[in-house]
Amino acid sequence: MVINERIKIINDKTFFECVMCGSKGKGKMYWYKFVQYVPDYNPEPLHPMCRKCVYKEELGSKLLSKKMKEGSLG
Ligand SMILES: [Zn+2]
Repeated sequence: MVINERIKIINDKTFFECVMCGSKGKGKMYWYKFVQYVPDYNPEPLHPMCRKCVYKEELGSKLLSKKMKEGSLG
């Protein structure tokens, strides 16, 4: 499932270890590419990423729980 050009859900229900926070668990496995701020620097996409980390990176930690409830990123 493709959320946008930088966020994809590779697996909906699988066991994995998040490369960002290191938490292990079963859930949605994300593929995430950071926003490219510097034109010459193309960041490597990260995966697997957990749902929480994707939301945090993409939307910020301030409204994290609210946004996760809304499910705007799957
Ligand atoms: Zn994580």
